[in-house]
Amino acid sequence: MNPAQQILQRVFGYAAFRPPQDEIIQTVIDGGDALVLMPTGGGKSLCYQVPALVRAGCGVVVSPLIALMHDQVDALQQLGVRAAFLNSTLGPEESRAIEDALQAGELDLLYVAPERLVQTRTLALLEQVSIALFAIDEAHCVSQWGHDFRADYLQLGILHERFAGIPRIALTATADQRTRQEIRERLALNEARQFVVSFDRPNIRYRITLKHNARQQLLRFLREERAGDAGIIYCMSRRKAEETAAWLSELGFTALPYHAGLDARVRADHQSRFLREESVIMVATVAFGMGIDKPDVRFVAHLDMPKTVEAYYQETGRAGRDGEPADAWMAYGLQDVIKLRQMMASSQGDEMHRRAEQHRLNAMLGLCEITSCRRQALLAYFGETLPAPCGNCDNCLEPVDTWDGTEAARMALSAAYRTGQRFGVNHLIDLLRGATTDKINQFDHQRLPTYGVGKHLDAQQWRSVFRQLVARGYLNVDLSGYGALQLAPSCRPLLRGELQIELRRETPRKAAKQRTKTPLSSDVDVALWEALRERRRELAEAQGVPPYVIFHDRTVQEMCTRLPRDLQQFAHLTGVGERKLEKYGPTFLQVINAHVGSAG
Ligand code: ADP
Ligand code: ZN
Repeated sequence: MNPAQQILQRVFGYAAFRPPQDEIIQTVIDGGDALVLMPTGGGKSLCYQVPALVRAGCGVVVSPLIALMHDQVDALQQLGVRAAFLNSTLGPEESRAIEDALQAGELDLLYVAPERLVQTRTLALLEQVSIALFAIDEAHCVSQWGHDFRADYLQLGILHERFAGIPRIALTATADQRTRQEIRERLALNEARQFVVSFDRPNIRYRITLKHNARQQLLRFLREERAGDAGIIYCMSRRKAEETAAWLSELGFTALPYHAGLDARVRADHQSRFLREESVIMVATVAFGMGIDKPDVRFVAHLDMPKTVEAYYQETGRAGRDGEPADAWMAYGLQDVIKLRQMMASSQGDEMHRRAEQHRLNAMLGLCEITSCRRQALLAYFGETLPAPCGNCDNCLEPVDTWDGTEAARMALSAAYRTGQRFGVNHLIDLLRGATTDKINQFDHQRLPTYGVGKHLDAQQWRSVFRQLVARGYLNVDLSGYGALQLAPSCRPLLRGELQIELRRETPRKAAKQRTKTPLSSDVDVALWEALRERRRELAEAQGVPPYVIFHDRTVQEMCTRLPRDLQQFAHLTGVGERKLEKYGPTFLQVINAHVGSAG
């Protein structure tokens, strides 16, 4: 066994590296630079933590998020690693103590905020001590085009000059080529070996369902599939986030709002409850999530459609970092499409910018409407090929029917055209279905040739036709805000009968099978599971750390299935290294033994 493997087992309690962790780690141990592109939950932290422990000196980790630093240091200390952080939350005395420890060679890992690192004082201090490596986490923060840009990151190129010969490893979960290039250039990582890991997140089940009554659909999802689980619900507006959180709270869920309009203290409090308590649901706008390192988020739900596939993938990627089954659930409908199309159309900026936005929105709509495997489409969007359908998305699990919608599409387009392209979808549906309404009477629309030609479809089906026509760009939405539908130039071949169009059939899908809530597999003794979690909760509370810092769900689950009876057996569980064995083994064994004794 090589030194890296020994550390992995002894300190972290894991049996083996996930390739290419081993290669990355060896590169850095040998003194080489590395650029690591790995999805969220892929296991980036070990890539610098292990080499920092193997090499002489202290590993310096640059991380932009103070809350995250705190949790990482807590987790490392639990493992018996000598870790600390330096950032603006520390008073002068505390900073001093940490600097002393660093100088005395008593630290294995030091997390530093970027603005702190580039201070002359800090750099001078680091020059006096032995450094194992520099890790630059969330390296995409150097990208001025990304939404996580941090000016301080631009100065990190300095490390290359001032600490020549010390290996540097930059890590990010941002996939695109341009960001990659920027990281290389700005951090002076031209020589770095690049490691790109598949961005697939196989444990996440993707589902995009059609909105009928979004709240009821969400409620069903939460109650039937995710009862008692922690998750995030994304909403487009602050108000909706608040209202949804209030509504869920009334129903007995622990649901907390989070958005940029809330007081900073309230935000911090909600975030910390989300991390520290179990079963908390965060109802949030896009303001929430960056750097949330909670491994056991079991679902991410979207009540509104994100604007881009990038945003969708990043947000859903916060589910299931621990590798256990997790859900990405979204409800979307015609109104989402109309709203976003309007937003795009009225957005400021030059023509090129608008076209790029349009292009991104179309890709997102395409993902919603697609009838084949969603994961294949997602990965293809990021330039990766998944050879076979995934078997873990809604379209794979319950294949979608299509129907020849050519005739219906022509009726719909013609209804918009004949009414002067001044009406919204509801009126057009009334017209097609031959309804008698005030508006129909007012505009004398009974006399149009399209009046009543569409009685063979019900209103719901017509909405589906219109949605798909808007999503595919055959119909445009008027800018004025009333949502009038107008013909796009691309609809001509369809109107002339030169083009056939296949539409999704929206038969309500069978309700998903009721699942025992993950990560509890069905053969697990629920009473024992709860008792172990209770013990974990007590230990976490006593130390003021999140429960997963004591043990991940995976480890607790293994306690239930493998029923270790002594410390030697306990040591074999995933996530149990030397320190945790010593610190927590006896108390958890007590729970197990009491339970097994009483059960048998
Ligand atoms: P990232 O930073 O890439 O999002 P993390 O470093 O937080 O991912 O790792 C995600 C999860 O996977 C953590 O719970 C971590 O302990 C676990 N993990 C990482 N590498 C391994 C491994 N080789 N064996 C078992 N678990 C691992
Ligand atoms: Zn699939």
